[in-house]
Amino acid sequence: MTNHLFDTLFAGRAESDTPFLICEGCETLSYRDFFGMAAQMAHGLVALGVEPGDRLVVQAAKSAELVALYVASVAAGAVFLPLNTAYKDDEVGYFVEDAEPRLLVVDDSAAARLRPIAEGVAARLLTLNADGSGTLARAAEDKREVFQPVPRAPDDLAALLYTSGTTGRSKGAMLTHENLASNALALTDLWAITDRDVLIHALPIFHTHGLFVALGTAMAAGAAVRFFESFDLDAILDALPDATLMMGVPTFYTRLLGSPRLTRERCADMRLFISGSAPLLAETHRAFAERTGHAILERYGMTETGMNTSNPYDGTRRAGTVGRPLPGVDIRLTDPETGAEVAPGGVGMVEVRGPNVFNGYWRMPDKTAEEMRADGFFVTGDLGRLSDDGYLSIVGRAKDLIITGGLNVYPKEVEDVLNAAPGVAESAVFGVPDADFGEAVVAAVVPAPGSEVDAGALAAAVGEKLARFKHPRRYEIVDALPRNAMGKVQKAVLRERFSSR
Ligand code: AMP
Repeated sequence: MTNHLFDTLFAGRAESDTPFLICEGCETLSYRDFFGMAAQMAHGLVALGVEPGDRLVVQAAKSAELVALYVASVAAGAVFLPLNTAYKDDEVGYFVEDAEPRLLVVDDSAAARLRPIAEGVAARLLTLNADGSGTLARAAEDKREVFQPVPRAPDDLAALLYTSGTTGRSKGAMLTHENLASNALALTDLWAITDRDVLIHALPIFHTHGLFVALGTAMAAGAAVRFFESFDLDAILDALPDATLMMGVPTFYTRLLGSPRLTRERCADMRLFISGSAPLLAETHRAFAERTGHAILERYGMTETGMNTSNPYDGTRRAGTVGRPLPGVDIRLTDPETGAEVAPGGVGMVEVRGPNVFNGYWRMPDKTAEEMRADGFFVTGDLGRLSDDGYLSIVGRAKDLIITGGLNVYPKEVEDVLNAAPGVAESAVFGVPDADFGEAVVAAVVPAPGSEVDAGALAAAVGEKLARFKHPRRYEIVDALPRNAMGKVQKAVLRERFSSR
C-alpha cells in the first residue's frame, strides 16, 4: 500500500532542486532541501513513538519547519492538528484533552505553562520556535534525509481541524488523505498552477486556506512560495513584481487597494489573484480590476470540506459570486426547515457532496449525524442562491458566524465569557460591517438587576480568556435583548441597530 496523500501531492518533488520556500530573512529552501528536512522530522517523530493514527497537536509560529512538520506528520501516518497561535492556554487545553495527542508541540515560551496539559493526556511535549529551534529540531537532527512514508489508505485521517460550534464545544473536522489530495489536485488543475508560478503566501498555516489550499496546490505543482510571516502591506507590494500568484482573504485586497503603490505596472507579471474565507465585496472586486486589470478569482470553502466552488480561470469571474462547483463536487440548495430542494433561483441552505467532504466530527457522532444527510450531502450552514448558469452566491450564514479579517468568531463562545462576568445578566455577540476587517465583533450586554457593568471590566474579562481576534470592538449596554416569539435573540435586529455607529 502507498501513502495516499504523500504519493499524490508530494512524492514527485523530493528530488527537485527548484526553490520551494523563499522566506524573509532566511535561506531559500529548494524542494530537495525541504523534503530532506521533512524526512529527518519524520524519523524524529517515529523515534518519539508516533504511530499511524496518532494525533500531533501543534501551536507554533509560521515557519518552514512547521510546514516540514506537517509533511513529516503525513509521511509518518499521523494526524496533524495545527492550532491558531492566538489561542490562550484554556483553549489549547480543550483541544489537547479532546484530541488526546501523542505529541504537543509549542513555542519554548509556552512550554512550562502547557506541560501539565500535555501530561494530563500522557502526551510528550516538544518545542518548536519561530526560528526553527527547539527540542523538535533536536529530535530530528542527525537523522537520515530519506524516509519511506508509512502506508496510508485514502480514507485514513491526515488532519483534524477544529471549527468552533455555534452551540458550545468546538468540533474537530476529520479530514482524510483523499479529502486533501483530491481537493489540492482539483484546484491545481482548475487554477492552472505550474512549477513556473511564484505564490505570495501571507496567510496563517493553521487554517485550511493557508495550509491545504495554498501550500497543497503549490507543492502539487512544484511552485515557488514567497513565504511571509503575516500580511505586511509594503512587503507584499515589494513582492508583487516578481510573483505570479496570490491567495488571500478579502482584507488583503482592501488593504492593497488602500495603497497608492498598488498599480497596473506593479502587477504586470501577476497571473492570478484568488480570494476566499469570507465574502469579497463586489465593490472591492470592481475597484481591484479597475486599478490593476486583474479580476480577482473568488472561491468558497470551509474547514469541513476544503474548497467547494470556484470562479473559472478561463471564463467570467463574476463579482459577488463564488463560482461553480469544483469537478466531482455536487451542490444543492435546500429549505433550512424542511430539507427539501428549493425552486431554481431561490435562497437555500448550501449542501455539498464530493471527495472533499470530511469524514465527520471527531468523537461527536451526534453532531456528525445532524449535519450529514443519508445521501452523503453535508449541510454547510451557509445560505446561497444559484444563477441559471450555475454560479453560486453566498447570501448569509445560518450559523451566525462572524468572520473578522478572515478569522472566524463564534458568538456563543464570547457570550459565554461575558455572561460569566460579574454584574452581567446576558449578552449577545454579533458582527457589524467593517471596512477593513469585513466584519467587526460587537457585544450587546444586559446588566443584572441592580448592577452596573462597564466596558473596561468586560474587556478585561474577555482578554483573560479569549484570543484577541475574538474580542468585541464595542460593548453596547442595553436594557434587554430583542427576542422573537420563540424566545430566540434576534441578532439581525441588533446588527441593524448598532451597525451605523
Ligand atoms: P472556515 O471553516 O474557517 O474556512 O470558514 C468557513 C466559512 O467561511 C464558510 O462556511 C462561509 O460562511 C465562509 N466563506 C468562505 N469562503 C467564502 C466566500 N468566498 N464568500 C462568503 N463566505 C465564505
